[in-house]
Amino acid sequence: MQNIILLAPPAAGKGTLANYLCEKFGYVSISTGDLLREEAKKNKELEKLMHSGKLIDDNIVFELLKAKLNKLGNTPYILDGFPRTESQAVMYGELIQNMSKKLGVVIYLDVDKNELKTRVTTRLICPNCKATYSIREKRLAPKKDFVCDKCESKLIQREDDKEEIFDKRYEEYLTSTSPLIDYYDSKGVLVKISDTDMSLVFEKVSSLVNNND
Ligand code: AMP
Repeated sequence: MQNIILLAPPAAGKGTLANYLCEKFGYVSISTGDLLREEAKKNKELEKLMHSGKLIDDNIVFELLKAKLNKLGNTPYILDGFPRTESQAVMYGELIQNMSKKLGVVIYLDVDKNELKTRVTTRLICPNCKATYSIREKRLAPKKDFVCDKCESKLIQREDDKEEIFDKRYEEYLTSTSPLIDYYDSKGVLVKISDTDMSLVFEKVSSLVNNND
């Protein structure tokens, strides 16, 4: 199986897709947002920066990612939320070359801003196992209100899912991350998916993964 980079604006479904691929195909998902949130529990400065919707310094993100990749061995992995800038993409290219890992495929989820905003403001997450739910879509709602189906923890809204912070994160995405679409397209590794129905996205990505065994 190929390694996968998920490239998408905030709340486009990267986490949901990553969870699905892990369960179905045995991928390991690496979310730099989750790694940073874990780190931020011990670092108030970092926590404050993250809550502002700004991007975190490349070196901090890179050290966390490197440590995680080193532990992985040969298990195929999904990068969720990394790289976020062209400089991170270049650093990552050099890192995997040194580690003899392959880039794999870059899946770009192309979702409209208004749809994203609605998703964000109706999204709940489990702070323990990271499962995500929606209070808008019945199919994605938790069985019991505000309780995680998987581990029964109390569900919360992520601090940076508030509407005004979403706007900042989206701006940050447009400025810093969207140039990566052309960057990876020019390398011939980009696959664009424009469906908003997640079951269609799952179907398309599954056939992509199956075709590249
Ligand atoms: P996410 O969970 O991917 O939406 O990330 C949440 C927050 O973590 C972002 O708004 C950034 O502040 C930070 N973050 C996550 N990944 C990166 C990255 N690759 N580079 C810089 N900051 C990041």
